[in-house]
Amino acid sequence: MSNTERTDVLVVGSGFGGAIAAYHLAAGGADVTVLERGPWVKSEEFEHDYLLGSSFTRIFDFVVGNGMAILGGNCVGGGSNVYFASMPRAPRFIFERHGSIGRRMWPAGIDRDSLDPWYDRVVEAMPVVTQDWNDVTYAGGLWAAACNHSGRTANPLPVAVDVDKCVNCNFMMAGCRFDAKRSLLFNYLPAALAHGATIRPLHEVQKLTRTEDGGYRVHYRIVDEVDYRVLHDEGTIDAKIVILAAGAGATPVILQRSEPELGKMPHGVGRFFSGNGERLNTAAINEDAAREVLGLDRGDGVAYEAHAIGRGPTVASWDRLDGSLPEYDRYSLEQLYFPPGLGTILAQVPGGSDPTWFGPEKRAWLERWKSWLTIFTMSEDDNEGVFGPPPETGNSVRVSQQMLARGPLSYEPTANTLNGWAKSDAEVKEIFEKDGIADVAPWTNDVVGAYTVHPLASCRIGDDPETSALDDGHQVWGHPGIFVTDGSAVPGALTVNPAMTIAALAERAMPGIVRAAQERGVDVTYGAPAPDGSTSARRGSLHLVPGLVGQR
Ligand SMILES: Cc1cc2nc3c(=O)[nH]c(=O)nc-3n(C[C@H](O)[C@H](O)[C@H](O)COP(=O)(O)OP(=O)(O)OC[C@H]3O[C@@H](n4cnc5c(N)ncnc54)[C@H](O)[C@@H]3O)c2cc1C
Repeated sequence: MSNTERTDVLVVGSGFGGAIAAYHLAAGGADVTVLERGPWVKSEEFEHDYLLGSSFTRIFDFVVGNGMAILGGNCVGGGSNVYFASMPRAPRFIFERHGSIGRRMWPAGIDRDSLDPWYDRVVEAMPVVTQDWNDVTYAGGLWAAACNHSGRTANPLPVAVDVDKCVNCNFMMAGCRFDAKRSLLFNYLPAALAHGATIRPLHEVQKLTRTEDGGYRVHYRIVDEVDYRVLHDEGTIDAKIVILAAGAGATPVILQRSEPELGKMPHGVGRFFSGNGERLNTAAINEDAAREVLGLDRGDGVAYEAHAIGRGPTVASWDRLDGSLPEYDRYSLEQLYFPPGLGTILAQVPGGSDPTWFGPEKRAWLERWKSWLTIFTMSEDDNEGVFGPPPETGNSVRVSQQMLARGPLSYEPTANTLNGWAKSDAEVKEIFEKDGIADVAPWTNDVVGAYTVHPLASCRIGDDPETSALDDGHQVWGHPGIFVTDGSAVPGALTVNPAMTIAALAERAMPGIVRAAQERGVDVTYGAPAPDGSTSARRGSLHLVPGLVGQR
């Protein structure tokens, strides 16, 4: 079957980049259609299970590349359904990074001060709250106590979680059935729908072509709701503006596949990928030391034994987020929970013969699972990821009916990236091994290479078309009317969780995109309040709007 429909604005993907764009354009009066590859799963359908066919395998995506695996969301709401909702702002020094190009990689128009009003808009919209120490989980408390014991500091994280509703079930990655996690299903997306936007789940965008009137034709396939390897009908929708927000593992693939018909893509499409410098260490806490050295007690003499109790990250150490340190020496250390599965396979035995995913030593390590505590490094990598040619359909080749795929990304960590990982591994070890608090070892990269839940920079913004894919207003260089607002647009690793920055950049891009839509004949205005109608953050960003509109 083939049919062509029309819309003013076609948004690809419904994660942070897609939801924010859909909301502002729909609220401004545009006819907005969102195509989302994954299913639309409601709160009550989120299950506490990891079985094939559960909400977890339906909404989670695990794409193994050559040297890098990407974990992400595959559903309406994108990564916001599977994320841990930790929402810090990027540190000031990040915007001054040079990375692999030897000069400032962010556009001249963006620094922490100029992005803060857009961060404020996201804080109001989600909303994001700052936890106090009473809100943090056992694991967060233990991490804070261990940091303190070794002379370091730690901080409760800002989160998009209603901590009063949270039951500490630790099934965040399977979607929150208690409506405690503030995913995009609670703010931007319902507000976009209320303003008339349409969201179509199980619609996978393949490529873009041009229409005779200077717009774009978006080609999609319908994905089977049980076996994602099976594609059904195809169709096309014509749009005046296209906003790509399929995530940093997917947006470059769609643009690469479109290149033969749209014409040459800028150099940065599918290059400069960053995995946000991620790395994981598992510590097995010595319960006696937690009690005696750290003075912790959960009652009944239990000191910790709380690996599966709590939320995702609640506490991070930011001591190394010091702008006076050299680039590649800066990272944050965040306490995190990863459920069994990947975490069990990749977690290594301290001092064991490497790699150890089977055998008696591994078994003994697994038997200590209740006392595990996972520490997540986010460091400065070198944007060394490169996408190979696109697969025949979709973003990757699906190897199981849900969740698993092989993708075209290659990533070979440079000495700079390895330096950050080695230093952070050593620091985690130093913190936990002081006075025998824990045994600790990093996850192996030998099975799937490096891994990231924070894919970034594969179509990045910049001032120079030689080292970026998008201009400062997120338009693809040389392709007027195509914009990218997802994690691909972020220029490089952030040393903290990226959703706040992805969202703030998407908010910042909106005045210019609305102007571009107007110039293409769309009847739309910019200026929507927060999704719940709040206006204080809008007031704080209004003075920046003329400058952003003027660029287009
Ligand atoms: C387990 C886990 C925990 C995380 N925890 C945190 C955290 O605590 N804090 C934080 O800041 N970040 C966290 N993240 C990362 C965060 O979820 C992402 O950075 C964020 O969602 C990226 O937003 P995005 O707009 O780039 O893309 P996504 O949110 O990934 O949205 C892209 C959407 O596009 C869809 N799509 C892909 N291809 C196509 C196609 N061809 N056609 C149509 N639709 C398509 C996808 O299904 C997806 O829904 C976590 C991620 C994971 C996996």
